[in-house]
Parts: sequence; structure tokens; C-alpha cells
Amino acid sequence: MISDTSFGTPGEHEYDAVIVGAGPNGLAAAIRLAEAGQRVLVAEAHSEPGGGTRTAELTLPGFHHDVCSAIHPMGVASSFFKTLPLDQFGLEWIYPEIPLAHPLEDGEAAVLLQSVKDTAAQFDSFSAATYQMVFGPLVDKVPDIMGDLFAPPKLPSHPISTTLFGLRTLPATLDAARLWFTDEKARALLAGNAAHSVLPLDRPLATNAIGLMLMLVGHAYGWPVAKGGSQSITRAMVAYLQSLGGEVKTDWNVQTIDELPLAAAYLFDTPPSALSRIAGDRLPEKYRRRLERFRHGPGIFKIDYALNDAVPWKSEACRRAGTVHVGGGIDEIAKAEREVWEGIHPEHPFILTAQQSLCDPSRAPEGKHTFWAYCHVPANSDIDMTEAIENQIERFAPGFRDCVLERHTMNCLDYERYNPSLVGGDIVGGVADWRQLVTRPVVSLKPHTTPADDIFICSSSSPPGGGVHGMCGYWAAEMVLKKSGS
Ligand SMILES: Cc1cc2nc3c(=O)[nH]c(=O)nc-3n(C[C@H](O)[C@H](O)[C@H](O)COP(=O)(O)OP(=O)(O)OC[C@H]3O[C@@H](n4cnc5c(N)ncnc54)[C@H](O)[C@@H]3O)c2cc1C
Repeated sequence: MISDTSFGTPGEHEYDAVIVGAGPNGLAAAIRLAEAGQRVLVAEAHSEPGGGTRTAELTLPGFHHDVCSAIHPMGVASSFFKTLPLDQFGLEWIYPEIPLAHPLEDGEAAVLLQSVKDTAAQFDSFSAATYQMVFGPLVDKVPDIMGDLFAPPKLPSHPISTTLFGLRTLPATLDAARLWFTDEKARALLAGNAAHSVLPLDRPLATNAIGLMLMLVGHAYGWPVAKGGSQSITRAMVAYLQSLGGEVKTDWNVQTIDELPLAAAYLFDTPPSALSRIAGDRLPEKYRRRLERFRHGPGIFKIDYALNDAVPWKSEACRRAGTVHVGGGIDEIAKAEREVWEGIHPEHPFILTAQQSLCDPSRAPEGKHTFWAYCHVPANSDIDMTEAIENQIERFAPGFRDCVLERHTMNCLDYERYNPSLVGGDIVGGVADWRQLVTRPVVSLKPHTTPADDIFICSSSSPPGGGVHGMCGYWAAEMVLKKSGS
């Protein structure tokens, strides 16, 4: 527990702002407000702050597992994080030798390297040329594009770059991959990235937007892990917040806004349904009904492994990569992701894996390794996907099961119990299709505000959405400052 602030009798506006939830967005909002001189308090349900950025010895002593987020392209691309002195508070990014590998049936792997040219060079000549055409012109523009995409709805500040990016996101990933690439490796690479959207790959706009953005950020910055685990991000944010006078109180599962100390503003790092429930009749009934119509998507089943040795991938590139996408070619991935939306647990799921200990030896005892793996499943699933996940990994890393010392599994229900913001096991703060990407949590030009002057939403259910980047919190805090005239 970071701090145990006890309150005196709450006077009027004991705090300028009280934030419910100490995820990366809640902490980002608190930091932005504290930087502006506000007195802030963050109330967190769990015994540790951090939400999706926590690390724990889930399996055996000395094995430090990222319970949720592991890989942080969005963290290094975040324009707000870039302004924070988090390195002075212990945060160190470590860049794996290869950001991402994707093994295929022939024992080879598609790889995402930092250089667009080197990445393109692994494909046939047609696909290499289109790969360079799609990504090449945009890499230098990533800060501008992210600046526009990672903001509430507005006219773009960089219309040319953002339009160039936008045009590439029009086709669904399945169509774009077939149009742009003749090489199965290139198709699989794009499909694996687009699958982070947790959407069927035949959906236009959002699948390619999310896939291309992750790849572009990989080319521009890389896909790092946080040294010591994603908890280091939280520790650094909390320490910086405390240095600004901010407070964090843990083990406080807020049920109603009336139990919070008096404050000029309340910010919710929670799903829309929790905001509606906790704020109650401080929000108009009509607005609450809109919040309650917010859509959550499929969930995940995750396994954390303590391994006796590194994963014995057939592909040498996979043995050097921070992230490995496991699921074969584009057709197999598309089938698995579609099945999840049809309520089916795929026999051959698409798996996102991370091998943090390869580049960060502090994660495991000497010579041993941690391994993080999850697949998408229908919402609220409590089905054990261990066998399906391990069958997939064994296809590309025969002998994997022999390396396992211990495993720790979490299904959708476990995740929601662990963090009430993961509704039904949804890890991206609500369906990220094009419609809900621009209408989080409701249709509004100021989506972080609510009809109540003093109530705001700052979670990943508000723009710009899921991932560890703190931008939802930053924009909500900006709204608070604007309203308070600071
Ligand atoms: C398994 C998994 C893997 C992921 N992998 C990655 C990854 O590799 N890279 C990446 O960028 N992102 C990843 N994500 C997504 C990322 O973790 C989230 O998008 C991010 O944490 C959202 O931040 P947030 O602050 O909006 O919400 P959260 O991180 O969910 O934090 C919300 C906080 O609010 C608290 N809370 C909720 N209700 C209350 C209440 N009533 N009272 C008090 N406190 C409350 C919760 O306990 C929690 O601490 C992953 C998520 C999961 C679950």
C-alpha cells in the first residue's frame, strides 16, 4: 500500500479533485491536476494502485509476472508520458532485440523490426514495395498522427498526415492484407496486430486503424517492456504524484459518490456503468441510460508461466522477440477472432505472448524465465483454455510444455473480480469498433465531461481508449482545468 491518508471531518472542498480508480488513466489525471497546483486524492479499490499496470509473483517466488499489461508501445508514444519525469522515479524502458515475431507453419517467422526497410526486406518483392509505401511515408509523422488520434473529437491539427493514415484504415484488415500483400508473412503480421482490436478482422476502419497504429509506433519507437514489470510504471507515477502533494488511498472500493470527501471535481477511472451507479442521481437519468448502453466486447483467458528455460521456438527470430503472436496465417487468425464474437471458444485461438525475461533478467531467477500468454474468448467465459493455448504454442515451439515449472491462469470472471473495470473480462475498456471509438462513452464533443459540472470520466472507456498511455486521464484533467478556469 502506497499511502494511507486518513481524513479529518470533510470541510468544504477538502480536495480540488477526487479520482476514483488508480489505473494509469486515473493516475495520469491526478498528476496533470497536481502539476497545475490542485489538491488531489485518488481512491483505489485494490490493495495496490495500478489497475492494468501491476506485477506480482503469481507462480513461484522470484518470478515477477505482469498481471495485465506487458508491452508498452503506447506508453513510449504517449505525448503526456513524454512530459513526465518518470525516469527520475525509477521507470526504465527496455527494448527487446526484436519487437515482434510471428511464427508460421514452415518454421520461419514474420518479424516487425524498427526499420521499415528491414521489415519489408523479408517479404516478396511486391509485398515489400507495398509495405514500404504503406508505412514508409508515415513513420516520421507518428507524433503528429498520434497527437490527432489520441485526442478527443476535433479537427486534425495535422490534416495531411492524419488523412494519409486515415485512408489506410478504410479497408478491413482482411481486405487490406489481400490487396496490399501477396506474401503470407506480411498478411499474418498485419492480421496479428489488427487482432489487438479484439474485433473480427472483416470490420472496416477500426481493425486496420489499431493494427497499423501499433506497427507504426513499433517502427517509430519500438515495443518496450518496463524494467522490473509494468508495476514500475505505477510506482513511478505514484511517486511523482506524491512529490507534487497528491495522495493515493488504497483498499477503498467506492460505492457511492456521497462517501467521497467534498471536492470541486470528481473523475472516474471506471467503466461507464460504474460511473452511472456511483454518481447515481447526481447525473440526469437520460445520461445514465446512455452510459448504461455502452457496449463491452469479448474477454480474455490468460496464463502466466514460470519456465525452466526460454520458450523453444523453432524460429530463431522468435527466440529474440519481446512479443510473439501465435496463431498461424491470416485465415486462421480471422477464423479464431470471428468465432469469439459468435460465442465460440476457438479450438485454434490466436494468442498474444510476451517473453519479458529475455530482455529483463530481473523478472525471473537466473537462467529461468517468465512467459505471458492470452487469447480472446467470449465475454464472461469461465472456460479453461490452457490446452488450446498450449497446443498452439507447441505447434511453433515443440517441447514447450516440458519447460513449464508452474502456471497461473485467469479467466474473464477472475479478471473482473481482480479489477471491476474489466467488465466481463473486456480488457480494452469497451468495444473499439469505429462507432464506439469516436463515441466513448457517449456521443459528445466533450466526452470526458458529463451533464454534471463536477463529474468527469477519465478511463479507457473515454477517448482515446485502451492501452497504457494515460491520455484519457490527461484529457479529462484538461477539461477539469478548463472548467475551473485554471
Ligand atoms: C490481461 C491484460 C493485458 C493487457 N496488455 C496490455 C499491454 O500489453 N499493453 C497495453 O498498453 N495495454 C494492455 N492492456 C490494457 C491496459 O491495461 C488498459 O487499457 C489500461 O490499464 C486502462 O487504464 P485505466 O486507467 O483506464 O483502467 P484500469 O487500468 O483498469 O484501472 C482502473 C482502476 O480503477 C479501480 N476501480 C474501479 N472501480 C473502482 C471503484 N468503484 N472504487 C475504487 N477503485 C475502482 C480498479 O481497481 C483499477 O485499479 C492489458 C489489459 C489486460 C487486462
